[in-house]
Amino acid sequence: MKPYYLQIAHMLSAYHPDDVIAGIQAWLEGVEIGMHRQGWKPVIEKPINREYFELGGLYYIEDKSHIKSHHEMFVMPPCPQCGETLYLQYICTKDKTNKVGWQSLWLCTNDDCSYKEYSLKSLNEWYKELKKKEA
Ligand SMILES: [Zn+2]
Repeated sequence: MKPYYLQIAHMLSAYHPDDVIAGIQAWLEGVEIGMHRQGWKPVIEKPINREYFELGGLYYIEDKSHIKSHHEMFVMPPCPQCGETLYLQYICTKDKTNKVGWQSLWLCTNDDCSYKEYSLKSLNEWYKELKKKEA
């Protein structure tokens, strides 16, 4: 088996270099703020019938229950459409399709709800505002 970095380099050759750099920046940002904050949970077994990505020999699956436990640390606002809890997603500002310079996106934890709101505030700015005050 090839070393992981060679596998990664091989996969990246399918993309435009600018997109690769944007992707790496998003990835570094993701690591910095913690994958779990974005609702990704590592699993060992390759997931079947669901979206995942592979990183460092682990499979990451979207895990909204984890987002909910994360929300115990933060006061997340309710969805204006359905009342369920909202969560934040990171947006890459280097992405050329992101002309406005959006830094984050509010999404609803309700799978049936399509609520979306883009924000110019970074995740760190939002989390500072949303952090529950120590008792
Ligand atoms: Zn909703």
